[in-house]
Amino acid sequence: MGARIIDGKESARQVKAEVAELVAGLQYRPGLATVLVGDDPASHTYVKGKRSDAEEVGIRSTHHELPGDVPQADLEMLIDQLNSNDEVDGILVQLPLPGGLDSERVVARIDPAKDVDGLHPYNMGLLVLGRPGLRPCTPSGVMRMLEDNDVVVAGRTAVVIGRSFLVGRPLALMMASKGVDATVTMAHSRTPQLAEVARDADILVAAVGVPRLVTAEFIKPGAAVVDVGINRVEDGLAGDVDFDSVREIAGSITPVPGGVGPMTRAMLLANTLKAAKARRGA
Ligand code: NAP
Repeated sequence: MGARIIDGKESARQVKAEVAELVAGLQYRPGLATVLVGDDPASHTYVKGKRSDAEEVGIRSTHHELPGDVPQADLEMLIDQLNSNDEVDGILVQLPLPGGLDSERVVARIDPAKDVDGLHPYNMGLLVLGRPGLRPCTPSGVMRMLEDNDVVVAGRTAVVIGRSFLVGRPLALMMASKGVDATVTMAHSRTPQLAEVARDADILVAAVGVPRLVTAEFIKPGAAVVDVGINRVEDGLAGDVDFDSVREIAGSITPVPGGVGPMTRAMLLANTLKAAKARRGA
């Protein structure tokens, strides 16, 4: 019998419905500003999706496009304008930025109160300290999916493969935080005997960027497997998990597509609402 499928589209639908209902009860419309630099087709598609999600739940989206050769100072000036615009509750700068631009400086320029991607060093610091704040969307989406699918995290052993600031590192911190209470290992490209380390996991997360790296030998029977990877391969999209072999051993598994991806988008909306309420006091 194959693993139970953890349906990201269903969880995302629920998050969006919750956000839409809460937004409808507000005296104002929360505002999300998206910033797109350059002409990368994938980035254009992502931003388009995020904007249409926002409109769907009643969040007003404004969009700013800059050429790939925009000077760093001009991009930072736009961020300053959005920071001081009272109608803007959340600022999303689509990453990666074209070569030549310093994305760390751009992210650090965003007002932390409007940092709906949760990547500003201040918000990362709050996460490390275990204090409330805006959390990165993909790890938040993973946590919400696990909760929606009754995957017990407390007291369990979790292995997160990947230590990026975008996914692996914040997710490992969230899982190990007080009240969530997993015992967490963060693995990476220098981890020896990776399959053996992974096999210890009740909850295994792959956030690597290597198509189908995680095979059946990585899996403890009955484990929950979360595949964050989105990799373009010859025959379309592939996750970091070899779905067909892993689903025979795992207890539950997220598919690609239809797993973590939709949740990342949904959590951006939840963060925008959270930022709006915190800024406007209701
Ligand atoms: P990243 O910044 O490139 O980080 C990849 C991590 O994987 C690094 O920590 C790296 O280790 C580790 N790694 C690389 N090769 C490895 C190997 N062979 N064995 C073990 N660890 C290895 O990537 P990312 O931004 O975290 O993204 C990871 C994947 O998730 C990508 O496919 C990306 O497209 C996808 N993603 C999906 C969503 C979504 O919404 N579903 C959102 C964001 C990202 P070192 O630190 O040692 O280099």
